[in-house]
Amino acid sequence: MIKLRDALNLGNDEIQEIKKQIIQKAKDSKLNAYIIDEDSLQIKDNRIPILIKDNINVKGWEITCGSKILKGYKSPYNAGVIDNLLNNNLAPFGRANMDEFAMGSTSESSIYGATKNPKDISRVPGGSSGGSAAAVAGGIAIAALGSDTGGSIRQPAGYCGCVGLKPTYGSVSRYGLIAYSSSLDVIGPITQDVSDCAILFDCIKGYDKRDSTSNPNTPKESIFNNLNEKRKFRIGILKEAIKNANIEIQEAYFNLIELIKKLGHSVKEVDMMDTNYHISSYYITSMAEASSNLARFDGVRYGNRSKDIRNLKDLYIKTRSDGFGDEVKRRILIGNFVLSSGYCDAYYLKAQKVRDYICFQYSEIFKDIDIILSPIAPNVAPKLGDKISPLEMYLSDIYTIGVNLAGIPSISIPVATNKENLPIGMQLIGNHFNEQILFDFALNLENNLKGV
Ligand code: GLN
Repeated sequence: MIKLRDALNLGNDEIQEIKKQIIQKAKDSKLNAYIIDEDSLQIKDNRIPILIKDNINVKGWEITCGSKILKGYKSPYNAGVIDNLLNNNLAPFGRANMDEFAMGSTSESSIYGATKNPKDISRVPGGSSGGSAAAVAGGIAIAALGSDTGGSIRQPAGYCGCVGLKPTYGSVSRYGLIAYSSSLDVIGPITQDVSDCAILFDCIKGYDKRDSTSNPNTPKESIFNNLNEKRKFRIGILKEAIKNANIEIQEAYFNLIELIKKLGHSVKEVDMMDTNYHISSYYITSMAEASSNLARFDGVRYGNRSKDIRNLKDLYIKTRSDGFGDEVKRRILIGNFVLSSGYCDAYYLKAQKVRDYICFQYSEIFKDIDIILSPIAPNVAPKLGDKISPLEMYLSDIYTIGVNLAGIPSISIPVATNKENLPIGMQLIGNHFNEQILFDFALNLENNLKGV
């Protein structure tokens, strides 16, 4: 598929042609990355098509978060990022499949069925932005938007072998992103390479007064125009935490460190608190916020409403019992529990204290290093239908969620493949608003990993 930076030079006819090809390929594809419908796949617009995760509002499209409860909801407005795309000669094109309400790590829980990994269709693409990553890596999208609450951009990008950025919290508008966990959610790009990722991030970032957590200090300068792969950085490497990864991920990690040294960057060991605490703090916080955010889906205002309703309570119970899937229900229940009086101090408040401590640790680390090098996941993409418990699934987020708790940016890039030719990705984590540093370093690695 053509790169985003090359597509920017195409004429109208060529863009129309690419759109037709994308529609055909998406329909023929076995990946189930697109949620095929007419409204989202119109070719009349002459702007460059960008695939949009099904939790970002686009005016006139059905937006469902991969859930039955939102079937039939037609968005009356554009999200902030969609306005920004349109102002930059890009346009939303196609809905990307996802885990229901962005809760998950495999993209198997969608009402539209599981998405598959383009590198091996017996495997998952990761999640929750699995449709976005599978389409980009599978050659059926130029670039895509995803959302990352606890790894949902970086992990599928890593499993599929493409590039994904989880931006600094507040640097990309959440206006029009259907909230999962408001203090953690951020929209970001999933692309074929590092330069395209910089271009798409430049297009979507920026302050938006319609989002109360949007940050007016977000740097306005173009990252793409300032890319400089010659800069040398101080890289922090994990000592204890790396042991949570399997042996092939560890090998790829240590090989990459050798390359980083050869390229002239300095390397220093860093230590965090036991990253298992990241999991506890993240899942309590995200479920608490989800239980509150998802309370609005009650059959009154949005999407689906169950039939045979006798009274108001009946409407809520039937619509929600019927409309939400198992994982979403589990999280609403746990979220309500940790917020309930009597348990709030023991769980929710404790999780906030741990979160504060995690932020403090990162700020200490960034006093004398520029970037932390970390795996994305402890393993490569698992098989579809692998029966693991919800707890095991939560544990697989061990490397990604600290970044969301601290609101800092991280870019994931493919760095190696394992014996079965499956992609292995690594993430580069920086301090708030240091995306330029991440892109410069990522480009340096990408250029020196060519052919790996
Ligand atoms: N796997 C994590 C979760 O289920 C992350 C999801 C996300 O980033 N949206 O919460």
